[in-house]
Amino acid sequence: MRLFRTVGQESVYHILFDIDEKYELEAMEAGCPHCGAALHRGSYPRKPRGGPKELPEKYMVRLSLCCSQEGCRKRLLPKSVLFDGRHVYLRAIILVVVALREQRESGFTMSRLASEFGVDAKTVKRWQAEYRERFSHGRWCGFRRRFAGGLVSGAELSTIILFFVKENDSETGVVRLLRFLVEYEHPGPWS
Ligand SMILES: [Zn+2]
Repeated sequence: MRLFRTVGQESVYHILFDIDEKYELEAMEAGCPHCGAALHRGSYPRKPRGGPKELPEKYMVRLSLCCSQEGCRKRLLPKSVLFDGRHVYLRAIILVVVALREQRESGFTMSRLASEFGVDAKTVKRWQAEYRERFSHGRWCGFRRRFAGGLVSGAELSTIILFFVKENDSETGVVRLLRFLVEYEHPGPWS
């Protein structure tokens, strides 16, 4: 329940946007990974779903960079805690929906998720499959072993999320977990 309230508050997106700005700065300092030239800002607006209705437009921006070198001009995406690749929904929403769905007993039913976040069953199943896939690969195997009882297959995210939220208040827990997931997956500046 606390998770659900947390992602419905504007304040959490303010913190996440600040983090994205730090990632952008880090990427600018690194320069173009293809030719080493300086990078220019080339952010673009997005219309993410699932967040609070009154979310200010300034947070609905995918921070993006563009190489300044003639002939290269690559568009580059710094890593992001707000957005998850091409997903239309905010990363925080995907995370919480999957975690709530995994907790079959105490979590949300599919119809509750549909009415609160506007997601359909097919989308939720796809997100669950993506997370399962994510956690079954390479570097995540080492991470799984850190959990004493192991991570129960099909309930990975709710176990991890409960661990992070237990250690912090709900908002800090969600933010720290998003940071952790993004930085563990993308050790460099890029997404
Ligand atoms: Zn370049």
